[in-house]
Amino acid sequence: SSSKPDISRAKSAELYEKSKTFFPGGVNSPVRAFKSVYGTPLFIQKGDGCFIWDADGNQFIDFCASWGPLILGHNNSKIREKVIDVMQNGMSFGAPTALENELAELIIKHNKYVEKIRFTSSGTEAVMSAIRLARGYTKRDKIIKFEGCYHGHSDSLLVKAGSGLVTFGETSSAGVPKSFAEETIVIALHDKAAITQAFQQFKDQIAAVIIEGIPANNGLLIQDQDYIEFLRAACTENGALLIFDEVITGFRVGLEGAAAYYGIKPDILTYGKIIGGGLPVGMYGSSAEIMGHISPDGGVYQAGTLSGNPVAMAAGIATLTELTKSGFYKDLNAKTLEFAESIQRFATARNYKFKVFSVGSIFWFAFTEAEKIQTAEAIDASSMEKFKIMHRELLNRGIYLGPSGYEVGFVSAAHTKVELEKAKRAIFDALDLVFKK
Ligand code: PMP
Repeated sequence: SSSKPDISRAKSAELYEKSKTFFPGGVNSPVRAFKSVYGTPLFIQKGDGCFIWDADGNQFIDFCASWGPLILGHNNSKIREKVIDVMQNGMSFGAPTALENELAELIIKHNKYVEKIRFTSSGTEAVMSAIRLARGYTKRDKIIKFEGCYHGHSDSLLVKAGSGLVTFGETSSAGVPKSFAEETIVIALHDKAAITQAFQQFKDQIAAVIIEGIPANNGLLIQDQDYIEFLRAACTENGALLIFDEVITGFRVGLEGAAAYYGIKPDILTYGKIIGGGLPVGMYGSSAEIMGHISPDGGVYQAGTLSGNPVAMAAGIATLTELTKSGFYKDLNAKTLEFAESIQRFATARNYKFKVFSVGSIFWFAFTEAEKIQTAEAIDASSMEKFKIMHRELLNRGIYLGPSGYEVGFVSAAHTKVELEKAKRAIFDALDLVFKK
């Protein structure tokens, strides 16, 4: 196969020129700016099922899915109708509504890992609040996070590893006080010795260990069962709480997320994305006892004007109603596995240094020979040049992936066999081109 001509981006480019006059980098969230792939960002006009259309009328099969929430695809009629129905009665009251109970019941009834929850309006807020809860509950200040996990953009979490095996973190963003970063210890994934050392070095000071149960923000770094069990035991022994950030994995890898994937009970869980059906939502939850420390029952303050707003609740209720139907995940996961395995077979048969890692309906394309990639360090940054070529070739063939090789892709219930076959053929062509260059 040969390269296809580039799609027209005239309208997107025009919108981008204008957006740059309004927003830093022309965007409201940095990764959207297409800085690590070819061309100007595409401005999206419409989505339906597994398809999106940009401002120039180009149609794509979408595997970004708004970065994960759209497990039922775009513009799902059940979500749309429920949202419109609820909106007929007003959009926000800042007072309790029955809809909050309804969504909470759907979550708690189907998830044995949480007894009580609190809704927020983003994943960032959910995680920030979970950390505050862990600190308030344990009366300790320090937290451990892992290199290669993303937990939103709150100050304590915009921290990267320092120079030693176990050191205070360094801020990964200007504007985060050094003194905040000093409360966050950043450790490489998959390193038991570093965890043991951190708990010794900071004895009785560590409030929580936070991890994406299945890290999916910096490639898909699937952890060993044994390592997660080790973290669970280390937290219990040292009186620290284990927080699973399930903003991506919650209701994605199954009804009970990464916790059930490993069969390990975290002390606090954070959710977002899917539980809001594409509208702004986050959530944290824990045992009734731990959640009893949240205001107004307890002394840990956390609030939100639009928390639990009826519109987001409606979208979440409609989404979870579909997900809790029997066989939902079985079908979705089987479809994704077949997709991932047939791409892998193609690449392996041609000796391409390329791996498709997948869990549930999440997949990640990695330009590597490694059988496993479990740490941030194991990702070859230079391979991202290959992703760049692939991304461009795929856009030109009507396939939309998130605009960075570090991002995972998502299959939704709206991707049918027909589109997955079409996507596979485009991916085969793109791989041939990448490896011939
Ligand atoms: N935690 C994880 C695991 C995430 O993937 C994200 C977002 N990608 C966040 C937290 C932050 O969520 P939000 O973007 O809704 O603030």
